[in-house]
Amino acid sequence: MNVYDSARMSEILAPLGYAPGENPESADMVILNTCHIREKASEKVYSELGRLRNVKDRRAEEGRAPMVIAVAGCVAQAEGEEMLRRAPFVDIVLGPQAYHRLPEMVARAHRAGADGGVLNTDFPIDSKFDHLPDRQADHSVSAFLSIQEGCDKFCTFCVVPYTRGAEFSRPVAQILEEARQLVDGGVRELTLLGQNVNAYHGLDEAGGETGLGSLVGRLADIGGLARIRYTTSHPRDVDASLIDAHGNVDALMPFLHLPVQSGSDRILEAMNRGHDVARYMDIVNELRTARPDLALSCDFIVGFPGETETDFEATLDLVRAVGYSQAYSFKFSARPGTPAAGLPRQVPEDVKDARLARLRALLDEQQYDFNTTTVGRTLDVLLERPGRHPGQVVGRTPYNQAVHVTAEDFRVGSIANVAIESCKPRSLAGRVVGPGSAWLGEDPRRG
Ligand code: SAH
Ligand code: SF4
Repeated sequence: MNVYDSARMSEILAPLGYAPGENPESADMVILNTCHIREKASEKVYSELGRLRNVKDRRAEEGRAPMVIAVAGCVAQAEGEEMLRRAPFVDIVLGPQAYHRLPEMVARAHRAGADGGVLNTDFPIDSKFDHLPDRQADHSVSAFLSIQEGCDKFCTFCVVPYTRGAEFSRPVAQILEEARQLVDGGVRELTLLGQNVNAYHGLDEAGGETGLGSLVGRLADIGGLARIRYTTSHPRDVDASLIDAHGNVDALMPFLHLPVQSGSDRILEAMNRGHDVARYMDIVNELRTARPDLALSCDFIVGFPGETETDFEATLDLVRAVGYSQAYSFKFSARPGTPAAGLPRQVPEDVKDARLARLRALLDEQQYDFNTTTVGRTLDVLLERPGRHPGQVVGRTPYNQAVHVTAEDFRVGSIANVAIESCKPRSLAGRVVGPGSAWLGEDPRRG
């Protein structure tokens, strides 16, 4: 979502004459778009700011126009005023719901000069999405589209409900319009974004509530849009209509990121996840009944307070039972202001390290196994960008695997039929054997 937000900030600043630059040294303004989800991400912000301060000072010594430093995103939201105190050389601090106000904040920062920074960490009543400019074509084949933001679930470990605010769904018409702009600009694949994307309940043109399953159906009708994905979904919000969409909508790719966090009922309860292991397994089974080749991805947290060896073993059991095609795993990070940060029985760091290593070894093995099962098959691959070597192009399979494809003649944005010939732990290699379901160029076999 930060990638999406950064793109939109860049679009909103374009009319003021700003364009993305190569490095901070040559930039008139630097925006750090920050993440607060774990301590490590959060801490990086201040070390990065230290480096930017040096760049800003050098520029001032050279007598050039002052560089504006802005901090956006969830660290900005969480720290607010404190950030301006701790790093007084920062000119602008703005939260994730206020970035449509960036142009006026930049103007104020120029006026304010040395008089202190400009702050906006409001959760405005009006949606920022109503104030953003049209999407600009940027030659990418695959694009993000934010449809939902915020969260009301309050998992005990998580800062999102505090930094991104309450759950909000964009209206259907606005999403369709943005999707059309992207497809007109050459996008073939959309990834719908939200902190809890399947909690989506936006209003349609007639004022009725629309769930993610129906929205996916509406998007699939856009001519030229070949692939739809969504992330991140929550098991509690997987409903029948979404499961149906996985069975019926061809453009909806057979890959789903469905985080469970832990395989222990006790820990799921302490996390306030709102479901147990049995319910998660039921959902996985229903999804796989609708779409038998569905590949699954997940997030896990190890070392949640009170997690015993038995709880951790239960997580490994769940991983073995589901079988993931890829996954992300994290050590529990105590976040200020969240209930879990204050819980007794915090797990020692070395225990977390050991559990993370064991879990990752299992997940890596599953990813490699999954990749191996696709070797020898012919899959539709969306060709996304030229590779490092001549005649090579990088693309993705329906299961979201990266593929290095050998193709003499290809057009980026095409979907080609690719014979998968070999795999590595995290990628595949293959060669084009014919046009896929949406080939835009010449059939390479004829050339
Ligand atoms: N809404 C999604 C997750 C969004 S946060 C969901 O509920 O599944 C992305 C991931 O960051 C989470 O799935 C979780 O695995 C991880 N995460 C969030 N807070 C964390 C914390 N305090 N410590 C470690 N990992 C955390
Ligand atoms: Fe955080 Fe996801 Fe839980 Fe919401 S549902 S509080 S975003 S982990």
